[in-house]
Amino acid sequence: MSLLELEDVTASYGHAQVLHGISFSLPENGATGLLGANGAGKTTTLRAISGTVRTTGRILFEGRDISGLGPDRTAHLGIAHVPEGRGTLGQLSVRENLLVGAYQRKDRKQIATDVDYVLDLFPNLQERVRSNAAALSGGEQQMLAVGRAFMAKPRVILLDEASLGLAPSTARRVYDAVVRLRREAQVSMVVVEQNANLAFSVVDDATVLETGRVALHGSRDELMGMDAVRRAYLGG
Ligand code: ATP
Repeated sequence: MSLLELEDVTASYGHAQVLHGISFSLPENGATGLLGANGAGKTTTLRAISGTVRTTGRILFEGRDISGLGPDRTAHLGIAHVPEGRGTLGQLSVRENLLVGAYQRKDRKQIATDVDYVLDLFPNLQERVRSNAAALSGGEQQMLAVGRAFMAKPRVILLDEASLGLAPSTARRVYDAVVRLRREAQVSMVVVEQNANLAFSVVDDATVLETGRVALHGSRDELMGMDAVRRAYLGG
């Protein structure tokens, strides 16, 4: 059984329909990518899964239809959405932000262990653990957003454009940590990323969206072998 499965999902903002029947699935312990040009519907697909946009079709999580549940309930079920723009709490410290991520948990000892794990994953945050999030660089805020999502102990992380606005070496560091998280913590992932080289360092397969529809789906190796994909997403 898939961990997450989208069947013919549409989504609309008011009267404007922007997804026109998206289907893909994510296996247990899998990582899948969503590629596509600006406006293709990648962010909206993540919003459909976490329940922040109106949808039709079926969104199955662990076999249960979660469409229409809303963000609080999908988060409670184990879906952690790391939105574009990060959304860390600026007036709270790095450590406090991580603890906010764990607010639904009661296993205090394990929470402390997991904070240490995140700080090990992101040494930059370790150095700034008492700083307010607002004082962090863009890259550090992105690291914190990923760390905070992990603190909820999710089954799946929805990662939206984690490299946006970051220097290449910083983006690489964020993705190296995401790869470790996937491997060490068995978190499944749906990765939206303009930079397909980064996406392909994490995902097993990917779906290419075009104007709200699935244009192409393939394994990482299949997609990387296609000239059209290389030209559009891999810089030649
Ligand atoms: P980007 O990389 O630019 O975020 P994307 O592939 O993630 O692109 P979406 O953000 O999902 O694309 O946008 C899909 C379509 O929905 C676009 O045409 C966009 O203009 C429209 N859209 C996105 N958010 C809203 C909104 N809040 N209200 C109305 N239309 C929206």
